[in-house]
Amino acid sequence: MNILIFGPNGSGKGTQGSLAKKKFDLDHIESGAIFRKHIGGGTELGLKAKAFIDKGELVPDDITIPMVLDVLKNSSANGWLLDGFPRSIVQAEKLWDALQKDGVKLDYVIEILLPREVAKARIMGRRLCATDPNHPNNIGIAAIAPDGDKCRVCGGALTARADDQDENAIDKRHNIYYDTKTGTLAAAYFYKDKAAEAGFKYIELNGEGSIDEIKEFLISQLA
Ligand code: AMP
Repeated sequence: MNILIFGPNGSGKGTQGSLAKKKFDLDHIESGAIFRKHIGGGTELGLKAKAFIDKGELVPDDITIPMVLDVLKNSSANGWLLDGFPRSIVQAEKLWDALQKDGVKLDYVIEILLPREVAKARIMGRRLCATDPNHPNNIGIAAIAPDGDKCRVCGGALTARADDQDENAIDKRHNIYYDTKTGTLAAAYFYKDKAAEAGFKYIELNGEGSIDEIKEFLISQLA
């Protein structure tokens, strides 16, 4: 089972993604998290990527594409949920070519639809749990509000990602996401156009519903 998930930063992509991941026991391959791991480990790749990430820009394709394709190749037998990649039409095409070449089938492509201004407010409210980055905490969303200044799931310490508090960086990231010509939405639509012919299902989720509503709809679609 192989799944691509698209959604602007702030759309609940991580939350919905982990649902699909658990249901099918998939490897969660998240390009942003791979970069953060490299940065944390002080690798050469991490050092190169950091300058772009801090500015809210895409890390260049010659670093990103081989890194992600390599992780995909080495993923578990159950398949993967790919999150944060592809983020441009070029990445979409390269991924498609690599999948075709290796005879890897896509099963679902999920797109979370959310207006840009709503996504921005959600990002600025997002908090990161030190114990588990998948624990959802957001000071701007009542259903997942932190417990005081602690993680609502485990009581762990919370921090805000520096790039989540930088409006300029958020706008830059959304400029890339909402770009339907060469950006991330162009990548999503590239797959939308292929869905029927290639035999995978393209699922559109309304990101403005409650987390539970979106989850239920997603479960009903993942047959
Ligand atoms: P994220 O955690 O998905 O918000 O990613 C954090 C940052 O990592 C992004 O703002 C980019 O700088 C970089 N990044 C993640 N995925 C990609 C990608 N597919 N292509 C280029 N840069 C990426």
